[in-house]
Amino acid sequence: MNERDSEAVAALLRARGYRIVASEAECDILLLNTCAVRDAAEQKAIGKAGYALARKRRRPDFVVGILGCMAQNRGTALLEQLPDVDLIIGTQKFHQVPGYLDNLHAARAAGMPLGETIVDLAEEPGSQNEIRDHVLAQDEAPDAPPQVSAFVSIQQGCNMDCAFCIVPKTRGDERSRPMEDIVREVEQLAARGVREITLLGQIVTSYGRRDSAHTGGVSPFVQLLERVHAVDGIERIRFTSPHPRGFKQDLVEAFGRLPKLCEHVHLPLQSGSNRILRAMNRPYTRERYLEIVQALRAARPDMYFSTDIIVGFPGETEEDFAQTRELFEAANYDMAYIFKYSVRTGTPAAEMPGQVSDETKEQRNRILLDRLHENSLRRNQSLVGRVEEVLVEGPDKTGRRLTGRTRGNRVAVFAASGRPIGRLAPLRIDRATVSTLYGELVPAGVEAAEPKAGGQTSVFLSGSSR
Ligand code: SF4
Repeated sequence: MNERDSEAVAALLRARGYRIVASEAECDILLLNTCAVRDAAEQKAIGKAGYALARKRRRPDFVVGILGCMAQNRGTALLEQLPDVDLIIGTQKFHQVPGYLDNLHAARAAGMPLGETIVDLAEEPGSQNEIRDHVLAQDEAPDAPPQVSAFVSIQQGCNMDCAFCIVPKTRGDERSRPMEDIVREVEQLAARGVREITLLGQIVTSYGRRDSAHTGGVSPFVQLLERVHAVDGIERIRFTSPHPRGFKQDLVEAFGRLPKLCEHVHLPLQSGSNRILRAMNRPYTRERYLEIVQALRAARPDMYFSTDIIVGFPGETEEDFAQTRELFEAANYDMAYIFKYSVRTGTPAAEMPGQVSDETKEQRNRILLDRLHENSLRRNQSLVGRVEEVLVEGPDKTGRRLTGRTRGNRVAVFAASGRPIGRLAPLRIDRATVSTLYGELVPAGVEAAEPKAGGQTSVFLSGSSR
């Protein structure tokens, strides 16, 4: 979400005449888009902002802005640690950033004193509709490899109130974008060469539930998937993050009938213990979760699963963790984000008794990580000798080979032959590590179509992550 929000801010700034620079050292304005989901992410952002403010002391016209979830969560309290910051902008105000920067420059040009911080953390009806502009690699440098995969924000906020989660506080109530706007954005991306779309939201499976009706048993989210599926030029559709509660029959069946919907589901589990799920205010059971996994595997036998898990939630006993471990085995995840529970002030879990020691969290984390390592390696090695479709995304880190992803969202690296960037191509896999597949493109299957390509103060946008 943060990556997408940053991109939308960058697009607005670019349209306003600002130049987005690749290196922080070159910028006149540094905007930090921050995460608040774990304390470590906030500490990282504060450290980074402090470093930027040291630069500002040497150069007073340098502008430092803090955007996003940490700005929303901490507000003006940030000024105690970061007194010279110029902007503190919340999650419903990203689109106001260019205006605030213009005002700041105008005030300085008029000789007004430096030092006032602009703070805007208010709710703004319709702000979810403002995350719609894109800066694709081909816009920044016409001879760059075209960007073929894009995120599309469909919704902001969440009403679920999971006991550990700060998101309802930082992102506000669930608000969906109109379906027509999303489809138009996807069509425009397709026309600019994008082939793969990832629909984004805090809880995408709740998309449109307040604004649109179920039609013939099909939820607004599945209706949106159908509309995006019908867009010419889009070859692959993904989404994140869903909620297990949203996996009704219509969504499971969509995987069986919409071939562009990739066979990878990120299905947050959080805990495999029903007692802990209740304490977390997660409205499903381990039994229901496994039913969903089985139904999805029945719809697509080669389905890949990833998940989010929290270890060491308050009150989690050895028995609770054993149940998480058992479910982790049963679901056979290909990928997982495993987090040690992090206290978030202002959430119900922060006040719960039975806080688990760091040492126990670390042990449980290690156990699941080791298991995940085995699973991922085994699944990747099972692909050796097979031919998988990859979407060729561009050069790998070395610049000498190409990289892309399989439909199951596995990263693949292969020799560059011709310029197949932006195409779907068959890849024969000859080697696999835990995180990467290696192989060769099968030339006969490479598609013929060429991808399409997409135009001053310098700004650097940086994102922190959990
Ligand atoms: S559904 Fe996700 S975003 Fe919403 S409160 Fe729960 S964990 Fe947070």
